[in-house]
Amino acid sequence: MTVKLGRTGLIVNKHGFGALPIQRRSVDDAVPILRGAFDAGINYFDTARMYTDSEEKIGRALGTVRKQFILATKTTAENGVELREHLETSLRLLKTDYIDVYQFHNPEHFPKPNDGTGLYEAVLEAKNAGKIRFIGITNHKIGVAIEAGESGLYDTMQFPFSYISGEKEIELVKLCEKTNTGFIAMKALCGGLLNDIGAAAAFMNTQSNVVPIWGIQTMNELEKLKTAIKNEKYPNAAQSARIEHDRAELQGDFCRSCGYCLPCPAGIKIFNCARMSLLLRRMPPAQWLTEQWRQEMEKINNCINCGHCKEHCPYKLDTPALLKKNYADYQTFLREQ
Ligand code: SF4
Ligand code: SF4
Repeated sequence: MTVKLGRTGLIVNKHGFGALPIQRRSVDDAVPILRGAFDAGINYFDTARMYTDSEEKIGRALGTVRKQFILATKTTAENGVELREHLETSLRLLKTDYIDVYQFHNPEHFPKPNDGTGLYEAVLEAKNAGKIRFIGITNHKIGVAIEAGESGLYDTMQFPFSYISGEKEIELVKLCEKTNTGFIAMKALCGGLLNDIGAAAAFMNTQSNVVPIWGIQTMNELEKLKTAIKNEKYPNAAQSARIEHDRAELQGDFCRSCGYCLPCPAGIKIFNCARMSLLLRRMPPAQWLTEQWRQEMEKINNCINCGHCKEHCPYKLDTPALLKKNYADYQTFLREQ
């Protein structure tokens, strides 16, 4: 199964590789994972300048086969000068002289011509110089994403999307289809809350204009992904039941782990602490019952009710209340161990 990535015209194999997690692996461990993904037919690799050494690992693993895959990276530059520097660094580390899809990485406001930042002008200049082929944007805020999608300034859009996504996200996918903007789905497992990759991949096969990027950091995960995407089937009865079950359980007010509420002046790791109840029940709980996570959860008691998290949550969650609820549940869970 392939997807035409909107107006870029790039033909992408349906399931792509998200290269954020390979930051956590050594070069010796990451290179075979990347090569294994490439050998399995994955031809879209998505990284970012801010993912520490992820670009360098891709350069080492895939530099010699550069023309055989589609390469996307991102910049958090805030002005044109910075963007040019970021791009040169990315090209050097990725061992290439062009990036297929160059994305603005989660900007607060989407860059546009004459907005005073010089970002859009710099990216056009890079395109004219042949250093990038297409201009993309990534975001976590639905409002920014919709406006960017409507602006016609971007060839691709990257946004969190999974089988538990709500109406707004589905609207965004449709908008991208209508405006011929390539849609790249991040967090197809909702930051670890969904644990059936087979169901998640089968769901994505029903979304004809969506390219999911799967964050892989171990050979075992790569094998699971390979199994999930083999034969590229639509959800079977068991997977449909799982999807319905998860939709029912996870609808509404839960933390999507986007991190937009940070920084927290009390140092609370909101992106995990505000969904601890779910993590304890949907993943092996031992990793959340360590001394380190006990201490992190204790920090919830230091909340000064500044309101920053609540104001910045794109899902309009009452984050302090959610943290307190998760703290109480965590204590109960600990007592029951
Ligand atoms: S309200 Fe509490 S949890 Fe939220 S940012 Fe402020 S101190 Fe942190
Ligand atoms: S509380 Fe809201 S902003 Fe913070 S991580 Fe969760 S979903 Fe994102």
